[in-house]
Amino acid sequence: IDVKKYFPIKAGLLQKQVGNVKAVDGLTLKIKKGETIGIVGESGCGKSTAGRTIIRLYEPTEGKIIFKGTDISHLSENNLRKTVRKDIQMIFQDPFATLNPRKTLRSIIKEPLNTHNLYSKKDRDEKVKELLDTVGLNSSFINRYPHEFSGGQRQRIGIARALALKPELIIADEAVSALDVSIQAQIINLMQDLQSEFGLTYIFISHDLSVVRHISDRVAVMYLGKMMELAPKTDLYTEPLHPYTQALLSAVPTPRSRNGVKRERIVLKGELPSPSNPPTGCVFHTRCPAATEICKQVIPQFKEVNKEHFVACHLYE
Ligand code: SF4
Ligand code: MG
Repeated sequence: IDVKKYFPIKAGLLQKQVGNVKAVDGLTLKIKKGETIGIVGESGCGKSTAGRTIIRLYEPTEGKIIFKGTDISHLSENNLRKTVRKDIQMIFQDPFATLNPRKTLRSIIKEPLNTHNLYSKKDRDEKVKELLDTVGLNSSFINRYPHEFSGGQRQRIGIARALALKPELIIADEAVSALDVSIQAQIINLMQDLQSEFGLTYIFISHDLSVVRHISDRVAVMYLGKMMELAPKTDLYTEPLHPYTQALLSAVPTPRSRNGVKRERIVLKGELPSPSNPPTGCVFHTRCPAATEICKQVIPQFKEVNKEHFVACHLYE
């Protein structure tokens, strides 16, 4: 994956394009089969747009998305249907909003099977029951409606529907953010079990660094549409290099480490700038405690400074 996604800003009577919102301004990632990659950042950093671009709900403005050897970045909807619409699935924060309240679980989960004409009509009901069982729901629920379920159960329904087409990659956008902590843990455990059972690859998008830490193998940090840092989980959480990652992590309440040192909380100054008018040079320079003159002018390269540890910051050049 190496993409940018801009949304045009239009103004005036003629709706002339006057600029761009650079929602994703450089996402460069190679995702390995079977791994979980976390994408973290504050709201508005472009992580959701990144997810929607990878799954081709959006067409990228620039760049490529190679999925199983094919560039899917500009495929037509017709061609997307043949592979991408089956192989990549997305689960969202609020399953209730995406589940039709007037439909039973039977028709909600069967819908993708109908659309892609999988299994004989007769077998589809059986398949739905099997999927409910897979996500830990009683198959007798098949005739019930979404409002009869709790938030955690609804997320299980969302997962069952995502699994119906036997996807290879699942993009979870704030999938557990609306749930209580104990329910979050159950859903994450379920996702991990399903991953090993079906060999799934996950992109796990969240603003919650603790949740991302739990589930991910590698973590990418985004700020104003750009990747600031990418590293294996342990490296990122124990030795964050980018000043923005350091600030984010300092805000996460952690139990005191063994030697009793607690990480000093770094409070960022200023407001998050608008992605339609991002700062010059390093986009983080208006808020960075370590910024120097060069940061205002020169965009830092995103480069590998330790094995598999990438960072975009002049401190490491
Ligand atoms: Fe801070 Fe400069 Fe590094 Fe940007 S490049 S994160 S402003 S030190
Ligand atoms: Mg979002």
